[in-house]
Amino acid sequence: MSGSVLSEAAQTVSTSPVLASRRLVVKIGSALLVDDETGKLHQSWLDALCDDIAAAHARGQEVLIVTSGAIAIGRGPLGMVGRKLRLEEKQAAAATGQMRLTQAYQNSLDRHGLTVAQVLITLDDTENRRRYLNARNTLDTLLRLRAVPVINENDSVATAEIRFGDNDRLAARVAQMISADTLVLLSDIDGLYTADPRVKPDAQLVPEVREVTPEIEAMAGVSSTGYGSGGMTTKIMAAKICMGAGCTMAIAPGKPRHPLQVLIDGGRCTWFSPGAEPRAARKRWIAGSVQTLGMLVVDDGAVTALRAGKSLLPAGIIDVSGAFERGDAVDVCTRDGRRIAKGLSAYATQDVRAIMGHKSEKIEEILGYRGRAEAIHRDDLVVGV
Ligand code: GLU
Repeated sequence: MSGSVLSEAAQTVSTSPVLASRRLVVKIGSALLVDDETGKLHQSWLDALCDDIAAAHARGQEVLIVTSGAIAIGRGPLGMVGRKLRLEEKQAAAATGQMRLTQAYQNSLDRHGLTVAQVLITLDDTENRRRYLNARNTLDTLLRLRAVPVINENDSVATAEIRFGDNDRLAARVAQMISADTLVLLSDIDGLYTADPRVKPDAQLVPEVREVTPEIEAMAGVSSTGYGSGGMTTKIMAAKICMGAGCTMAIAPGKPRHPLQVLIDGGRCTWFSPGAEPRAARKRWIAGSVQTLGMLVVDDGAVTALRAGKSLLPAGIIDVSGAFERGDAVDVCTRDGRRIAKGLSAYATQDVRAIMGHKSEKIEEILGYRGRAEAIHRDDLVVGV
């Protein structure tokens, strides 16, 4: 191999967000996965995609799949191919399609020895704090266990008010929830164009967007495709959610075999690049906009540990006040009442009171359930605010 080829390869490695991400979310649209006419899966395409996902997993990356297709796959077995479905028929189709959809990913990833875990989410789960935290903890645990979460909207039970209705925004909410570094939206569109390319043939692909301005929104226009419910509008909404969370997003063509590898190799797409990385965005949010509902007083050892970037353990807490739930923001103060940090508590007031001063191993015995070892995890903590 010549020197120039090597250095080019090295450059690709250092620049593609797909490779640089610790946590990567890949969203797959129905039209890529399922044949329009027959309702059958595009098996060889799915296998090639799963090869890319397995390669990312083998590099040590954490990969989550958000996939559409439950309704499209479920029509056939219920004898509803080739006609427009009413809402309740779609929900029925999703009920039989969803298990086939997840199983298809499991079968394909089985070839690489990977385990899939199905997680069905509704809009409610991302807006209600308790359910949000539960969903986040489940996804975190699955990733720690090296499983590949396969996520879709819980179409069969979601009513109009609690539906996302499109998986572009669902994928962005998931990316935000788990502080993903990158979200790739794979669809039959290869990126954002300056105008609708079907109407204006001279429209140009926009390779990078650093801010979603009204001009960018105007470029997206209003469009919809037959099967998926996405279109460009929901993709731009997804981009806004991602950029606010410090997550990079791509609108990329899913049709090529090995679509993630194509992206890594510098394929055509639109990148939405946020200013800050996810952890920084999350910390900025904690430092700036979250109101504290209580106070934890910590000992000198804990003060030193927090200043060194460590998490706050129950053992270091000597007093608690206020009324807060798990996930609420609290101030962390020294014995003499100086605030040294602000963070999201992993426990509610009464539970903190019960476990403070104790070693984390004792948490289960005291509370009757096994919570987090940290009272505030370092990712949820901003020191020096
Ligand atoms: N959740 C729907 C399904 O699995 C698709 C929604 C979308 O395509 O955005 O069929």
